[in-house]
Amino acid sequence: MGKTNREIDTKLIHAGEPNPLIQGAVSIPIFQSSTFEYGGQESYHDLRYIRLNNTPNHVALHEKLAALENGEAAVVSGSGMAAISTTLLALLSAGDHFLAQDCLYGGTHDLITKDLPAYGISSDFICGKDPNAWKKLLRPTTKAVYVESITNPLMQVANLKGIVEFANEHRLYSIIDNTFTSPINFRPLEHGFDLSIHSCTKYLNGHSDIVAGAVIGQEELITKITHKLNHLGGTLDPHACFLLHRGIKTLAVRVRQQNASAMEIAQFLESRPQVERVHYPGLSSHPQHQRARELFDGFGGMLSFELKGDVEVAERFIRNTTIPICAPSLGGVESLITRPVTTSHACLSPEECKQVGISESLIRLSVGLEATADIISDFDQALRTIE
Ligand SMILES: *Cc1c(COP(=O)(O)O)cnc(C)c1O
Repeated sequence: MGKTNREIDTKLIHAGEPNPLIQGAVSIPIFQSSTFEYGGQESYHDLRYIRLNNTPNHVALHEKLAALENGEAAVVSGSGMAAISTTLLALLSAGDHFLAQDCLYGGTHDLITKDLPAYGISSDFICGKDPNAWKKLLRPTTKAVYVESITNPLMQVANLKGIVEFANEHRLYSIIDNTFTSPINFRPLEHGFDLSIHSCTKYLNGHSDIVAGAVIGQEELITKITHKLNHLGGTLDPHACFLLHRGIKTLAVRVRQQNASAMEIAQFLESRPQVERVHYPGLSSHPQHQRARELFDGFGGMLSFELKGDVEVAERFIRNTTIPICAPSLGGVESLITRPVTTSHACLSPEECKQVGISESLIRLSVGLEATADIISDFDQALRTIE
């Protein structure tokens, strides 16, 4: 069996590893050297220097990430936002227009609405559902369409097949933020997307101890994005590369456990009288459950819910849980709980939140690796305190 045919579990461990091993080291060493001896390179981008994203730690990670999603190439960056901003600035210039899904990650939404217009890059928001509505927003200058695999915090799943067809028909770059699903549950390039972006801060690293990003796709596009990244400077430091590399190796076991645990917790919450509504693509009550079943290998470790009652009730519930930590971010080994309007979506105005359906009392949970039964019994006692 060829290397590329191996299962993702095997690629997580072995893809991109130095061959031969460096001095026999089973774990790749950290190359904490800003610059490397000149080797006759003719292009600036080939000089070996940390900012140029080509230390041995970068090269190994790039190969591993590309293998995980069956892409030709990949590049890592200093954060998820560095990956997103660099990608958009590499592909779009003044005068260009693109379409972006509504209800995006708060930082991305802000970049698109508050920063990109100053560079002459305009956009319109599209709902994830209706290709006819997307068509009406096309302009001669439209160059790209940008979506997320599962939206935050309402866990909606857009018509991703429709997005790819639409992009192909109108010759647009199709870009997807695949952070919430991770390569274990979804590999967008297999479905025709041009570029898959990750905040590696989340599932890929998985231990809540670094920020990092990545873009995976065709070699030609990744080279273009890498050159832009070289200029903008949003490089990932080799020490953080090492931590990300180490974290990635356990991605499959973490994410599958989180898939299973989130499913049980979602079902538990849905069964409780104190709970108004649960948003989890694995539940048959989820409006895009069927689509998620077709596209994904697992439904992920993220869910959100509303309790019967107001913000005070939501706050009391959060305060009375004892296992999850009340903090933003997600995808780590510890369960994290937040109200998105105070954290991930704090940069949206109350009107913008309302427009995309995020209520003040919505609670979001990133399921960690604690025993599922312990989380459920903790939630059970916290629910009793709000009766
Ligand atoms: C966290 C996150 C980002 C931003 O990533 P950083 O690593 O914090 O810069 C982008 N998209 C999604 C979906 C995220 O969850």
